[in-house]
Amino acid sequence: MPRPIEALIHQPALAHNLHRARECAPDAQVFAIVKANAYGHGIDRVFDAFRAADGFALLDLDEAQRIRDLGWRGPILLLEGCFEPRDLELCSRLRLWHAVHSEQQIDWLAMHKTHEPHRVFLKLNSGMNRLGFTPSGFRAAWTRLNALPQVDEISLMTHFSDADGPKGIDRQLAVFQEATADLPGERSLSNSAAVLRHSERAGVRADWVRAGIMSYGSAPDFPEHDIRHWNLQPTMTLRSKVLAVQALQPGDTVGYGSTFVADRPMRIGTVACGYADGYPRHAGTGTPVLVGGQRTRTVGRVSMDMLAVDLTDLPQLGAGSEVTLWGQGPNGSMLSIDEVAAAAGTIGYELMCALARRVPVHLDPLT
Ligand SMILES: *Cc1c(COP(=O)(O)O)cnc(C)c1O
Repeated sequence: MPRPIEALIHQPALAHNLHRARECAPDAQVFAIVKANAYGHGIDRVFDAFRAADGFALLDLDEAQRIRDLGWRGPILLLEGCFEPRDLELCSRLRLWHAVHSEQQIDWLAMHKTHEPHRVFLKLNSGMNRLGFTPSGFRAAWTRLNALPQVDEISLMTHFSDADGPKGIDRQLAVFQEATADLPGERSLSNSAAVLRHSERAGVRADWVRAGIMSYGSAPDFPEHDIRHWNLQPTMTLRSKVLAVQALQPGDTVGYGSTFVADRPMRIGTVACGYADGYPRHAGTGTPVLVGGQRTRTVGRVSMDMLAVDLTDLPQLGAGSEVTLWGQGPNGSMLSIDEVAAAAGTIGYELMCALARRVPVHLDPLT
């Protein structure tokens, strides 16, 4: 028998969450963001659930190829554009839209031989300082692109650094509006946090929103808001089983480094899940976990293949009991990946992307 750990992907939850992006930005078209192998879920596993999207957006050219291979004939956007000149050949062949964030990418386009002109998304650096043209250089880049026979449509995009927090989007939105005033073309501004928190704002309700993390059932602004607040559903469940039970006396310790010391008689369950499965080693004692659908906590350090859970107040549970590390548990129970991430000092994005290769992934058979 294989180790009892597995991940489940919930397609109805993916479809529900994508629909939430539509509800929040009803006038916009929605890109489903499937970079990083669909945030660790697997492009093949999310594709059907995201068919209702208006387009897919991603980074890797081989991911774009996979989406075309799955039969998608609609828009696909390369969020970072091309990495070298010959990538443009694939853009022509697969009819990919691509971001243009640098002069070098315009140089490549100017040398590219194509029968079909490309649609590009000209990227403004409105304050994130990662990719894009400066506000002062934006218009010149647009003019240069507009003169190229290789380009037939120019859309305008930027990316918010603080849509999830108190700083908000005001400053970047103003920079975008000034830099793009009177330029024609469709606009794309919002990531999940902007879709959820700022869709009521005039000007941000742009033509194309880019829904990433919200589609995967994680709240971008946790802990200020959780997925219940935003009406999102977990799309990935990591589950395993209790392998063994230990009875502790006061003073007994658990795991490497003996970091957890029992202060009373306790029952501890050893679970087949560790950091080599993608569970965060930094999640210390007290990280929430479900056993038999009931909430309890981890105790001690996470090891490579195992971790420990507190069963003291769950006397009916023991070896063989189902453990939900995150996601959807038995009997309608739920543990948001955001809570586990927060306990490990990180974000839901990182945990879902870091699900280890050795964990078998299945589509949820119940749905
Ligand atoms: C990843 C990404 C997104 C999606 O961000 P989420 O926070 O996951 O919604 C949108 N736009 C760009 C350019 C990205 O790289």
